[in-house]
Amino acid sequence: MGYIADNIIKTRNALPECVTLVAVSKFHPEQAIIEAYDAGQRIFGESRATELATKAKSLPDDIQWHFIGHLQTNKVRMVLPHISLIHSADSERLIRTIDEEAWRINRIIDILLQVHVAQEESKFGFLPQELIEKLENGMLNGLNNIRIRGVMGMASNTDDEYRITDDFKQIRATFDTLASGIFAGNNDFSIVSMGMSDDHPIAIAQGSNMVRIGSSIFGSRNY
Ligand SMILES: *Cc1c(COP(=O)(O)O)cnc(C)c1O
Repeated sequence: MGYIADNIIKTRNALPECVTLVAVSKFHPEQAIIEAYDAGQRIFGESRATELATKAKSLPDDIQWHFIGHLQTNKVRMVLPHISLIHSADSERLIRTIDEEAWRINRIIDILLQVHVAQEESKFGFLPQELIEKLENGMLNGLNNIRIRGVMGMASNTDDEYRITDDFKQIRATFDTLASGIFAGNNDFSIVSMGMSDDHPIAIAQGSNMVRIGSSIFGSRNY
């Protein structure tokens, strides 16, 4: 058995049963995905539209492709036919575009609302309070071709575990506020996507139920 299959199995075995593993295969070749697939993995995460579309066309049909990176509105049409979940719905404009394009191809697209809590300026997403207010003010009104499944977020890029813990707490708290507020009674709203290779144990402790793990499965990436 190759090291990727081995890593998939080790990673899965270390996760609580209620936590879904997204194997982040961005920048890794199709052969690496096949190896993980043969070890039973079916959910893969990609962060570039062209790469996702190319891989999806040649790899097995029962793979569930998740989009996890910043998605430009002009790339929505390219990825949508292949997508099972978009983690990174990070602006009102993007959400509207996804809805329009989903309507065009007669699909309902599952998305997560990206929450921005990390310190870095460059990270995309809605601030927690901004998101809650926008939703209460009808941001999703009339959008019938998207289904909001939950939230996604990233912690600050730091070694400070207190800071990371606090970031994940804020993401989870945003989910809880929405789950008992605007999404009360909506069972579709159930996913908290947080945690990567280095910080997923902390994320799970803070209530993540979907982790996005790349380098500790596939090795480091050559950008
Ligand atoms: C690349 C990426 C990951 C995976 O990161 P690793 O550190 O390789 O596990 C997770 N989430 C997002 C949004 C990413 O872009």
